[in-house]
Amino acid sequence: MRKAPVVLPDTTLPDDDDSWKQSPKSKPGTGKAFRDGVVTTTEPLAAEVGALVLAGGGNAIDAAAAVMFMLNVVEPQSSGLGGGGFMMVHLAETNETRVINCRETAPQSAFPNMFQSQPDFALRSSSGYAVGVPGALLCASTGLDAWGTISLSEALQPANAAATNGVVVSPRLAADILLPRLDNELGPPDNPVKPAYDVARAVFRPNGVPLEAGDLLVQPDLAHTFDLIAEAGPDAFYQCGHEAGIAQAIVATQQITRVANPAGVGGMDCEDIGSYEVDDLAPISRSYRGYEVVTMPPPSSGGVALLQILAMLERFPIGDALADFGFGQLSTANVMLEAMRLAFADRAVWVGDRDCAGCPNLPITGLLSNAYLTGRADLIEVGQRQLGVTAGDPRPFDLNFADPSVMSTTLPLLLDEDGDTTHFVIIDKWGNIVTFTTSIEATWGTGLMVPNYGFLLNNQLTDFNAVPTANNDPGAFNPGANDAAAGKRPRSSMAPTMLFLDGDPIAAYGSPGGATIINTVLAVTLNLVDHRQSLKQSVIAPRFSLTSPANDAAIQLEPNLPPNVLVGLQALGYQFTATAAIGAIQAIITIPTSHKQYGAADARRIGGVSAADKIKP
Ligand code: GLU
Repeated sequence: MRKAPVVLPDTTLPDDDDSWKQSPKSKPGTGKAFRDGVVTTTEPLAAEVGALVLAGGGNAIDAAAAVMFMLNVVEPQSSGLGGGGFMMVHLAETNETRVINCRETAPQSAFPNMFQSQPDFALRSSSGYAVGVPGALLCASTGLDAWGTISLSEALQPANAAATNGVVVSPRLAADILLPRLDNELGPPDNPVKPAYDVARAVFRPNGVPLEAGDLLVQPDLAHTFDLIAEAGPDAFYQCGHEAGIAQAIVATQQITRVANPAGVGGMDCEDIGSYEVDDLAPISRSYRGYEVVTMPPPSSGGVALLQILAMLERFPIGDALADFGFGQLSTANVMLEAMRLAFADRAVWVGDRDCAGCPNLPITGLLSNAYLTGRADLIEVGQRQLGVTAGDPRPFDLNFADPSVMSTTLPLLLDEDGDTTHFVIIDKWGNIVTFTTSIEATWGTGLMVPNYGFLLNNQLTDFNAVPTANNDPGAFNPGANDAAAGKRPRSSMAPTMLFLDGDPIAAYGSPGGATIINTVLAVTLNLVDHRQSLKQSVIAPRFSLTSPANDAAIQLEPNLPPNVLVGLQALGYQFTATAAIGAIQAIITIPTSHKQYGAADARRIGGVSAADKIKP
């Protein structure tokens, strides 16, 4: 086994690169070093807002709140007040890392087969009953209350001004405005649910004309909502009796549904919204070649799968080109793909929310134990593609499970997961870091915008199993880890992640992309740690993703992987489907010794890197 030298990655980072000054489109990453704080987002304007907060003396948590609200304005199709997310925060002073879990929850009316009657994903994911109680606002306000230095109303101010005065429509937003998600119930006006789907259209296709890149997008209703929250705090959003009226409007909006939906309307009520809470979670972590990978616990599967894959890969000499384990080489791809298949098989059976009242007990400790993962890694053979990959049984490796003799034989199920959310990372001059994935699930969420309040409602509940899996038969045991239930959070793949060396954070990153997030975050981890790539290169490098263990599952493949590797993989039995882009990494690196800070924004989306140093006189 190769023992990797543990070195800081700054030796490969150019220090004199002014590429951040160029247009955002030509900027897949930046080699410019900063010291006073860096913000990297999918949208340049949001990055600017974050950098302004930092330059004004705010910390990373302040900037994160401001960026989150600003993204609701400039990239409303991907995140916002009507969604949720995971906000990972590293606090420099105490060297502590926490996660605020503001994932949406299912209302009390939710039940395991609530989605079973509607096999059409497009219909169920654009209906009001797919809406989970939104949490995003509480991520921002809880973070500010705990660690911030500015008020919620100050954090809202830049987004409020942008919504009021208008922002220029980006090419990506313009392209998304043409998506069929905004076409729902476009037909005759006598359709009773049509008006609900007209609300978002009125904003993004005024008078039926889609906004184009370069047009001005003005969102007075959203600005009004920001005003209400700035005035009264989160109560304006979460208290049903509040004069702001936001909660009642959410309830009414999610009761609207597509005419063809047999499972009825959304069942969220005022009590569901009023009782919504965020969780303060400890991240999960494990070491990988001398680095500590700190990542997202359940209800995300992202961190669990990432750590499992890394653990399975650690025995292989990844990064050693002479051994065929260099970047993009056949053996590297082969073992990565097999580890992905094993982790995704486990994910389908064993991972979901474990923190709600009725949530099943889940063997997460077992899934991450060395003994269990050694057995799983033993299934991977270089030059082989496994047939019949199924979930393992981690319960014998988990003290929370008394009866290890009961074996799982349940086959994993596939989910419809096509999310398209957003990620951003911020580091301030003190070394506080926020890495935050926030989402309304699909692009445009349900497509339902709350009338008069100007924000879109998520369809996050479609991240639950469409068909329940729970099974108490000892021979086919399945905990139903991700079956829908009252108050439960749907399983996510979002994976805000940090890399530590000798106790210090040295990198933070994350990506949108539904289940592919796991493989995108994995790729960047390997690029930095094993392939010794620069930050910029680690983000640019072509990626592939396999999110199913099934024998006939196709690998999603970006262009530019060497043809001989593809031929080699084909010979092993892998199938491919070409895809233009997988994910959109946002990343920072910080060097503990020099305090230099670097940021990279993935050109797969527009991307924006900004820095406080840039703004200060
Ligand atoms: N619903 C997705 C998840 O939680 C959203 C993330 C994304 O698609 O980017 O995994």
